[in-house]
Parts: sequence; structure tokens; C-alpha cells
Amino acid sequence: MAQDTDIRREQRRKRRRRQRLLCRAMFAAAGGLVAAAVLLVVWNALPAGADARSGPRPAGADRGIVVAIDPGHGGYNENNGCWDSGTKGDGVTEAELTFRIAGMLEELLRQDRRFAPVLTTDGSTYLKGSQRGAAAQAAGAELLVSIHFNSDPYDHSRGLECYPATPAMETNADSLRLAAAITEGFAATGLPLRGENGIRYLYFDANDNRVVYESSDTVPRTDPTFTVLETCSCPAVLVEQAFLTDPADTALFSTDEGCRSAAGIYYRAICRYFDMEPQ
Ligand SMILES: [Zn+2]
Repeated sequence: MAQDTDIRREQRRKRRRRQRLLCRAMFAAAGGLVAAAVLLVVWNALPAGADARSGPRPAGADRGIVVAIDPGHGGYNENNGCWDSGTKGDGVTEAELTFRIAGMLEELLRQDRRFAPVLTTDGSTYLKGSQRGAAAQAAGAELLVSIHFNSDPYDHSRGLECYPATPAMETNADSLRLAAAITEGFAATGLPLRGENGIRYLYFDANDNRVVYESSDTVPRTDPTFTVLETCSCPAVLVEQAFLTDPADTALFSTDEGCRSAAGIYYRAICRYFDMEPQ
């Protein structure tokens, strides 16, 4: 009997222990649910678009999308002892204009903290196209815009040409999207687009002559194109923005206001490329 009493006492002790453990487990589960609910509330309270590429990034959270801006000329060329001023117009040089526009574009992108703009050159030393592309690649650029101006001393050419990575390059489709956003932006200002829609492919033939095709020609030719497009490893365009040999073209972009307008067009095109609203 005493043994039976001991057994029952032991059974009651075990039952109470099981009940205590069950209680603790239920309490812990309820605590977990409360913690999960709090996390959910905090998560929903975060600013919409805090994820990459779709909204403001907190300062210092990361460096933003690296966009390389290439002011197509400038710098002292030790090989020929000359400054690379590019082509010349009425009182302005290509290097002056491309640096002004590139600087304004850099400022616009820097103010929009979703981007981390980099210039391929500070203009002190002459760089070949391949070195400009390599600088963009080294910076981890996701996109490159190379800005140039055109010249035609023999004819009354005017208007914009935009050269994306060619159909044989894997960055072709994305480069074309950027080219379309840029050309449409400039067309809206009244600047003529050359050729079919301003978007063209350039190749160098065996004699290093330039051969141009409209963008409707999608043959994947393996001839080289602009080396800056070939070496940057990201979607890229080279823009011959206007003819400095044409007074009407030059007048559009030779003032601060004209340069700011051009920088704004590039900025909005870059936003559109990344499916973002300009800020
Ligand atoms: Zn140029």
C-alpha cells in the first residue's frame, strides 16, 4: 500500500511537471507570435521602396547604382604634345562642353542618392577610349554614357547620333533601351535625330574606316566598334550629341542653360532605363 501511495505520488508529480512544461511551451509560443507581429509592424512601417533600385536609399546604406559618365575628350596627350580638345565650334570646344554637361549630370545623379556617379576622367591626362571603358569597369559601373559632339566641315550636317553596344555584344538590348530614352529626350527639344531614329551602329573596317548602319540593321557583325563601348563591360552608349560645325546645333548647348537641359535629359533617360521616377 505504501508502495502504491509512493507510485501515485510519483505519477502526480510527473503529471504536474508535464503541465508546467506545457504551460512554459505555450507561453514561449505566444511570445514568439507577439515578436513576429512586432517585426511585421516595423517592416511595414519602413519607407516604401527601401529595396534596391526602386526608391530612396538611406544615406550610407550602400553606395547606389554606379553610373559612369565619360566626358569624351580632354587631357594632355603626351604622344603628340597637344591637349585633346576634340572638335571645335563657334567659341567652344567639344572637351569644354562635354565636361560641363558631364559635371552637371554627375551633380544630378549625386543629389539622387539612388545613384553613385563616377567620371571616367578628371580631364588632366589624355585617355584612349579603351582606358575610359576600363575606368568604368574598374568602378563597377552598371551603365556608361559617353558624351561627344560631332563635326562636319564639308556639309551642313546637324542633329544627334546615339551609338549603343552593337548586336554582337551581349549588352546590346539594354544599350538600345538607354539609347531610345536618350534620343526621345533630345528629340522633344527639337534637336533633329539623324538617320532613321538617331540610333546607329558604328564599326571600324579592316582599314580602320568608320562604317555606320541604322539600328534597324541587327546583323551581329564582329567588326570592332568604339573601344569605350567594348571595354566597359556594361550597357553603354556613345552620344554624338550635336554638330559643333552647325550654328543652330551649337546654340542649343553652348550656354549653361543648354548644358543643364542636356544633363537633365541624360538624367531622366538613366532613371527611365532603371525604371525609376526622376526625383
Ligand atoms: Zn568626340
